[in-house]
Amino acid sequence: MTRKNFKQELQDEVFPIIAKSAADIGIDCYVIGGFVRDLMLHKKIPKDIDIVAVGSGIALAKKVAEAIPGKPKISVFKNFGTAMIRHKALELEFVGARTESYQADSRKPFVENGSLFEDQERRDFTINTMAISLNQENYGDLIDPFDGIKDLKQKLLKTPLEPNITYSDDPLRMMRAIRFATQLGFTIQDESLLAISSNRDRIKIVSKERIIDEFNKILLSPVPSVGIVLLHETGLLPLLFPELKALQGIEEIEGQRHKDNFWHTLEVVDNISKATDNLWLRWAALLHDIGKAPTKKFDKKVGWTFHGHEFVGSKMVYKLFRRLHLPLNEKMKFVQKMVRMSSRPIILAEDHITDSAIRRLVFDAGNHVEDLMTLCEADITTKNPRKQQRYKNNFKRVRNKIVEVEARDSLRNFQPPVSGEEIMKTFNLKPSREIGIIKEAIKEAILEGEIPNDHDKAFEYMLKKGEKLGLKVNPKR
Ligand code: ATP
Ligand code: MG
Repeated sequence: MTRKNFKQELQDEVFPIIAKSAADIGIDCYVIGGFVRDLMLHKKIPKDIDIVAVGSGIALAKKVAEAIPGKPKISVFKNFGTAMIRHKALELEFVGARTESYQADSRKPFVENGSLFEDQERRDFTINTMAISLNQENYGDLIDPFDGIKDLKQKLLKTPLEPNITYSDDPLRMMRAIRFATQLGFTIQDESLLAISSNRDRIKIVSKERIIDEFNKILLSPVPSVGIVLLHETGLLPLLFPELKALQGIEEIEGQRHKDNFWHTLEVVDNISKATDNLWLRWAALLHDIGKAPTKKFDKKVGWTFHGHEFVGSKMVYKLFRRLHLPLNEKMKFVQKMVRMSSRPIILAEDHITDSAIRRLVFDAGNHVEDLMTLCEADITTKNPRKQQRYKNNFKRVRNKIVEVEARDSLRNFQPPVSGEEIMKTFNLKPSREIGIIKEAIKEAILEGEIPNDHDKAFEYMLKKGEKLGLKVNPKR
């Protein structure tokens, strides 16, 4: 039999405080949503706790804030009828129970006060409708009119209302369905999946920020491809990421086929997710081949080529980030760099690995060289076990070589060992072309291994180079 009371689980000291405050002002209140769901899933109990009051959520929050020792600050959002209290590590969110009615062009509803049941009914999935009572007469009782507990056990995402209504009212719920399916490993009920497909075009009324918020959670899940495949199957993918959709398909000319770069990309994303939780490196994996669709060509001699796809891809990263309101700061630059350099270690590993090639790789990738290697390792998706082993070993050698070269030459975040000022003083020069030429020559000599990355050796080299350029050393320097 399913348990009905969860008093034991309401361990935190705030629950009795909230219960007493509600009793004092004579309203009922409940813990609801994600907190209850995660409690039932025996997951780590979340730090954000949603409290629904049958009455004013703001009034209850004020009462609670007064009753908590230390009287924490309260943030009131009058327009939304909500209030938030931060207490220790907790974030308590208070809202009044409400019903909602929607208009076609907005996901912002008209809101009216309602009963607990009405409030539960407007929520997205049955597993998110479960509430636990904080009222004296039934403290700890699970209030679950939509049998969320059953769906939780069956790992099923189901809407409390007819799915077409739920998704059409607020199309963000389509993203949330796919996100929860990916995060929790749940199945979206068939009717729901169909409703997402039929309502997919309504995603256009959702802000880019909210979409990306959910998508980032998909990308940070243990197996992100689950969500990306669902986006694909419901037809949302081309609306959000036409660039990825364009990677799909295999063409054949004269018996030569190329691989399907969409399915390959999904494998790379899943691979990298075993190695890193870095969201932006996961983005890089997702986008590493997007330049392949526009650069694809068939050549009678060499077959399918994707010349320059890394460079084209890195330009596309900017456009995609801008379109989806992703940050256009160093995060984007990092993703661009990873995409641009994504083939470098591969070319290198296929060849004889020279010190100078490694020095150039470290010089260009800087502090991101390990991330780049992680991306390249994730990019190995061959099903041929011998090839797979060979590629892995090659990359291991590249990694070892990086450590070796690094220890000797410290090329990361390279600073020219001889400064422009020193060059000017030595040859009594004003700012001029020659300085750039000398600096570049010193850098090249270091990367080629002609001289070590060291001031004195670089200075000697500079004198020789200056002489060749016909410069005179300033005797008074
Ligand atoms: P998590 O915090 O892990 O993302 P959550 O379920 O707590 O998951 P929140 O966004 O914190 O998600 O929302 C809290 C609760 O509010 C949900 O459990 C759900 O009941 C309800 N909810 C949130 N967003 C929506 C929505 N777009 N439509 C309907 N109900 C929603
Ligand atoms: Mg939450």
